[in-house]
Amino acid sequence: MSKTCVIIGGGIGGLFTGAFLAKNGYEVTVLEKNAIIGGGLQCFRRHGKVFETGMHIAGGFIEGGSLNKICSYLGIMDRLKIQHVPAECMDELYYRRTGEVFRIASGREGFIDSLSEYFPEEKQGITAYVNELYRIKDEVKLFSLQEQSDDSFMNWEKLLVPADELIEKFISNEKLREILAYLNPLYSGVKGHTPAYIHALLNVLYINGASRFIGGAQQLAALLKEVIENNGGQVLAGCEAAYIDVTDRHLNFVEDTDGNRFTADCYVSAIHPAMMAKMVTTGTFRKSFIHRLNEIPLTSSAFSVYIDLKPDSFPYIDHTCYFMEDYGNMWNQEKHNSDKAPVSFMYMTPPDENQGRFASRLLIMCLMDFEEVRKWEHTETGKRGEEYEHWKNHFAQQAINLLSHRYPGLRSQIERVYAASPLTIRDFYNTKNGAIYGYRKDCRDMFYSRLPVYTKVDNLFLTGQNIILHGICGVPLTAIITAEEILGRNVLIRAINEAVSQ
Ligand SMILES: Cc1cc2nc3c(=O)[nH]c(=O)nc-3n(C[C@H](O)[C@H](O)[C@H](O)COP(=O)(O)OP(=O)(O)OC[C@H]3O[C@@H](n4cnc5c(N)ncnc54)[C@H](O)[C@@H]3O)c2cc1C
Repeated sequence: MSKTCVIIGGGIGGLFTGAFLAKNGYEVTVLEKNAIIGGGLQCFRRHGKVFETGMHIAGGFIEGGSLNKICSYLGIMDRLKIQHVPAECMDELYYRRTGEVFRIASGREGFIDSLSEYFPEEKQGITAYVNELYRIKDEVKLFSLQEQSDDSFMNWEKLLVPADELIEKFISNEKLREILAYLNPLYSGVKGHTPAYIHALLNVLYINGASRFIGGAQQLAALLKEVIENNGGQVLAGCEAAYIDVTDRHLNFVEDTDGNRFTADCYVSAIHPAMMAKMVTTGTFRKSFIHRLNEIPLTSSAFSVYIDLKPDSFPYIDHTCYFMEDYGNMWNQEKHNSDKAPVSFMYMTPPDENQGRFASRLLIMCLMDFEEVRKWEHTETGKRGEEYEHWKNHFAQQAINLLSHRYPGLRSQIERVYAASPLTIRDFYNTKNGAIYGYRKDCRDMFYSRLPVYTKVDNLFLTGQNIILHGICGVPLTAIITAEEILGRNVLIRAINEAVSQ
C-alpha cells in the first residue's frame, strides 16, 4: 500500500515537494487556498494579457543547471516554454543622475569581461571576486545537486561574512562595489547582514544564464500538478487549510475552512511558518518557538506596476533592466524618497509566443518596506479606501515618470496600468508582511534565522522559501531536502543525477 502525504500550500515549494513524493510512491494531496494554484508562479489575465505575479526571471534552467536537471527528472523540462536570455547582455543597469549604462554579459568570462570594460583597472579584482563566488557555490553541494553528508556548509565561518564585505575584499572602486550588488532585488539583501553565500549563489545562478517563461510562469505549476495527478495524487485549488490537529507530537488531520478533514501518514507545510503555527493545536509548539517564528526578520516586500502596452509601440527588450536613481541606494532599495517615488527598480518586457520587435507588456518591480502600507494593514482587497487607492496610483505614476527619463515616449505607449502593493502580496500568498523572499537570512545570527525541515511533531515537515533557499531555483532545492527527510538522505539527488545521465 502506498503511503500518503498532505501538503498545505500549492506554490513552488508545495508543488515540487508533492511531485517528488508522488514520483516516489506517495499518494499526495496538495491544498491550495487560491482559486488558481502556483503561488509565486501564478499569473493573472486582464484584457486578454497575462501578467506574472511573483516570477519574472529564472536561473537554473540552462543546460546543466540544477532546475533543468530537476525538471528533466520529473519529465517536464521538454514541455516548458522558456526563452534563455542572450549571453551578450543578460542585464542592463542605468543610473539616471549620471546617465551611465552598464550592459552585463552572462557566462563566467563574459561577466568578467563586460564589467572589466567599464573598470579596466579592476580586472584582476573582478576575476578574483568571481572565482570566490564560484568557490562558495562549490561549498554548497545542494546547489549543484551533489550528495551531502550533512549541511555543514552553514557552519563554515567564511561563508558567514556579509555579502558587502565579500565585495569590498576584492574591489576598491566604490562605484563598482555598488554595481556588483545589482542583483539585490532578487534577494533583498541588507548591508552587514545578508550572508555572502546568498549573494554568491544568486550571482552564480544568473551568471550561468538566466531564462524567462514565454507566456507566463503558470505553465510550470500546471506541469507539476500533472506529475502529482499522473502518480495518483490530487491538487485541490480553493481549499484553505484552517486547523492542524496535533496530539502527543503527532499530526492527526488538517481541516479546511469548509470543515473537510484530510488525513495522511505525513504532512508538509509549504506556507509561511508563522501562518502554519497559528493553525496548530494550542500548546503544540513552545511559546518561545512561536515568538521566534513571528520575530525572525523578513525580507522586504515589493510594489509591482503592470503595464499593458499599445500595439507596435514599445520595443521588446530581451533582458532584464535595473533602474537606479543615483549611486548609494543599492543596499536600501526598499526606501523611497520624500516625493514617495522609488529610488530604484527592476523592469522588463516579458516574452510572448512568437515575440516580435515590440513588447505587449512592461513590468516594473520596486522593493518596498511593509511600513509604507502599515496604516492600511487591517483592510481587505477592494475595500482599502480612497486614500490607499490614491497612494497606490501616485506611486505607480512616479515609477512611470522615472522610467520616462529612459524612454521619453513611454506615457503615450501605455494602454492601461495595474498595480500591486505589499498588502496585495501579503493577502495573495498569505505571507507575513508581504515578504517576497520570506525570512531574511542573517549572517550575524544564522541559527536564529534558519529553520530545519523537520519539526517536533513527528510527521510534520516544512518546506518553501522561508526554510533554506528562496526563488525559482532555491525553493525546489529546499523541496529536495524536505522530500529526502521523508524518503531518505540523497535518495532524490541520486535519482535526479541518474535520470539525467541516461
Ligand atoms: C513580486 C514578486 C516577484 C518575484 N520575482 C521573482 C523572480 O523574478 N525570480 C525568482 O526566482 N523569484 C521571484 N520571487 C520569489 C518567488 O516567487 C518565491 O521565492 C516563491 O514563489 C516562494 O515559493 P513558496 O512555495 O515558498 O511560496 P508561495 O509561492 O508563496 O506559495 C505558498 C502557497 O501557499 C498558499 N497558502 C497560503 N496559506 C494557505 C493555507 N492556509 N491553505 C492553503 N494554501 C495556502 C498560497 O496561496 C500560495 O499559493 C518573487 C516574489 C514576488 C512576491
